[in-house]
Amino acid sequence: MANPELPPDDLPVLGLDADDTLWENEARFHEVEGRFRDLMEPWADGTTTDSALLATERANIARHGYGVKGFVLSMIVTAVELSEGRVEGRWIGDIVSWGHEMLDHPVQLLDGVTDALDRLGTTHRLLVITKGDLNDQMGKVSRSGLADRFWRVEVVAEKDEASYAAVLDRHGVEPSAFVMVGNSVKSDVLPVLGIGGRAIHVPHTTTWALEEPDPVAVAAAEFPTVDRLADVADLLVARSAGRPS
Ligand SMILES: [Mg+2]
Repeated sequence: MANPELPPDDLPVLGLDADDTLWENEARFHEVEGRFRDLMEPWADGTTTDSALLATERANIARHGYGVKGFVLSMIVTAVELSEGRVEGRWIGDIVSWGHEMLDHPVQLLDGVTDALDRLGTTHRLLVITKGDLNDQMGKVSRSGLADRFWRVEVVAEKDEASYAAVLDRHGVEPSAFVMVGNSVKSDVLPVLGIGGRAIHVPHTTTWALEEPDPVAVAAAEFPTVDRLADVADLLVARSAGRPS
């Protein structure tokens, strides 16, 4: 989606992750995982439920994709398995309604994000690259109130080297001139470094188990980490002034 009021085409492009970089996301999943543990209590303890759900998600990520719909399907599959088919239809209905609640939830921006984007937007064209369900991700962009700050928004099925290369190619951006910012080393940092770009890690408090990066790949990679999105602008200024980052 193009915004004609936004920055001139000669500004460099800065990639931004969305979930847990601009707004809260993982916390919503954790909250619902707690409800799911309670629901499964007649058949399994919390640890068993957690590991069964994660195993279902891991086994089905290629089928279900990332996001709320896949999460709901995985809870249903796990509930049927753990209860050996005895889970009642009304409880399946509850699981689906939790998903609807997640999809409709107000977007809670992380602290300082609006000011940080206003600052970054003066020096960069802001390209959001997020993975998950198209409707869910675009709905969050819309409800965030931030949409007019973004040059483009891309929703991809997976954040790997091929998808980053395709996005950058589509927008005429050289990887060597591209910087990506995000909370996931696995999704926002390593694949961008892998295609010759640069990346800045902004960790969030909670990381989904399936977003844990390969420690060997992390040890071999060089990238800066900052505490908050607001610190990214300072880092980019320092870099362009030739100071070490
Ligand atoms: Mg993220």
